[in-house]
Amino acid sequence: MAFMHRIAIVGGGTAGWMTACLMAKAWPDADIRVIESPDIGIIGVGEGSTPSLKRFFQTLNIPDSEWMSACNATYKTNIEFVDWSPASGRQSYSHPFISQPDHFSERAFYSNCFSRRMGIDVETRPEKFLLNAYLAAAARAPVTPANFPFRIEYGYHFDAFLLGQFLRQKATEAKVQLMPLTIAQVVQQPNGDIKELVSQDGQSVSADLFVDCTGFGSLLMQQTLAVPFESFASNLFNDSAVVMPTAALAKLPVQTKATALSNGWAWQIPLQNRTGHGYVFSSAFITADQAETELRSHLGLLDADVQARHLKMNVGQLKQHWHKNCLALGLAQGFIEPLEATALHLVQTAVEIFIDQYSCSEATAAQQSRYNQLITERFDKVRDYIVAHYKLNSRDDSDYWRANRANTDLSDSLLQILDCWYRKNDLDQEIKRQQLNSHFGTTSWHCLLSGYGVYPAVAEPSTDINQRPDPFKQMQLEGFFSGCLLNFMPQNELLSIYQGN
Ligand SMILES: Cc1cc2nc3c(=O)[nH]c(=O)nc-3n(C[C@H](O)[C@H](O)[C@H](O)COP(=O)(O)OP(=O)(O)OC[C@H]3O[C@@H](n4cnc5c(N)ncnc54)[C@H](O)[C@@H]3O)c2cc1C
Repeated sequence: MAFMHRIAIVGGGTAGWMTACLMAKAWPDADIRVIESPDIGIIGVGEGSTPSLKRFFQTLNIPDSEWMSACNATYKTNIEFVDWSPASGRQSYSHPFISQPDHFSERAFYSNCFSRRMGIDVETRPEKFLLNAYLAAAARAPVTPANFPFRIEYGYHFDAFLLGQFLRQKATEAKVQLMPLTIAQVVQQPNGDIKELVSQDGQSVSADLFVDCTGFGSLLMQQTLAVPFESFASNLFNDSAVVMPTAALAKLPVQTKATALSNGWAWQIPLQNRTGHGYVFSSAFITADQAETELRSHLGLLDADVQARHLKMNVGQLKQHWHKNCLALGLAQGFIEPLEATALHLVQTAVEIFIDQYSCSEATAAQQSRYNQLITERFDKVRDYIVAHYKLNSRDDSDYWRANRANTDLSDSLLQILDCWYRKNDLDQEIKRQQLNSHFGTTSWHCLLSGYGVYPAVAEPSTDINQRPDPFKQMQLEGFFSGCLLNFMPQNELLSIYQGN
């Protein structure tokens, strides 16, 4: 396969425009077109990111002050999980993004989690050990002054429609050509490669590489090339969502809240001009109407005239993400439900891997197969982390939560992590052995397992074991992080500076 000079990206959702921006930056001489249907809308949800989006904007040299104001965006340092595990005795726990100052405290976190696994009653709440959770508690923007010597990781919340428009503008400035067409026919070569796309009004578009960003429809990969889809429905039960907005919060949080409800969970995502909410649920356990009523009741909107949108989700991934001369990205390649907001992260990392490995060389079948293996593995590892949230829940208010707890369809990798934890072995070593640190690393797994309270009963206070030191107290971590906080400004203040107010 020769270097792909002419690239046709089909789909103008966030995936299509992110891909166009990254490819145009990497290959300024390539002829890149984005075909966006004027008749078929984008999905228009997906308002939370991981820290990889920060890298995306840095790659494109776009400062936060420019794009955040244009997309009503806020910072995200943390996800707060509420009501997932009543048996833990904690109403909520945090999964913060991991910043450099956490290198100072994460060993203390692991050590206390280990002590607690041995039955000792010590502090193990993730939010007490990790800087970004302190930022979340104080609603501080995670942006450091020049003299602060540590890197802080953060993601964002944003309006998906506005982000799409912003990226379209940036891509077209970088000479990407926008073609407002609806593709009606895909013509193949005798060897199965895609030869050209034909629009409803008869225009044809040929290219060397075709990128399928057509959303759940997966026009090129599934409908044309018949690449099989591996469903995750047997261990991720949620297949539906209902979404609705409320007014913006006065003090804008820097975290997403994920609250467990009767048959799924609801997000709260703060934007500058509104607050996004959505209930992600399983239609096998609750109807769409019941879910909407429950979300309205959760938000205090039972009698309010607020429009709800209902969505279906196809959870799983393609068996091949790159097949023939076609690459699939975004919902067209697969989707893992949005509990950790990983969809755009997967799009971005997939494009980055593609660009890194193939920009200067001819693509061989072996490279294609290696790429497919890498991306499949990424989907699998993200899925495992999400599955663990459901498997470890301790709610007893519905068949849904009991069925999730009883789920035995767990990957070997996940079984080994849980086994390591229950056997009181070294979880850090296990995560390293499985090479999981580029997905969800050791600290994230400690947050999850500790957050759900996956511990034995506390031992009798008189046992020798209670003589173990408690590094949380010894290192005076709360004082250390409270001191760090003095370097960060309240998010509302920084956003107003960005807006020039
Ligand atoms: C309930 C829910 C919550 C989510 N939350 C998050 C989150 O918090 N964080 C996150 O990262 N992601 C989230 N996602 C995923 C996120 O919405 C998507 O990954 C993201 O919007 C990218 O979508 P897309 O571009 O792949 O598809 P779409 O937005 O569906 O775009 C598809 C594009 O293809 C075009 N198209 C389709 N058919 C044709 C055709 N025949 N001819 C020409 N053009 C065509 C359409 O016009 C459109 O432009 C969520 C998804 C759901 C369902």
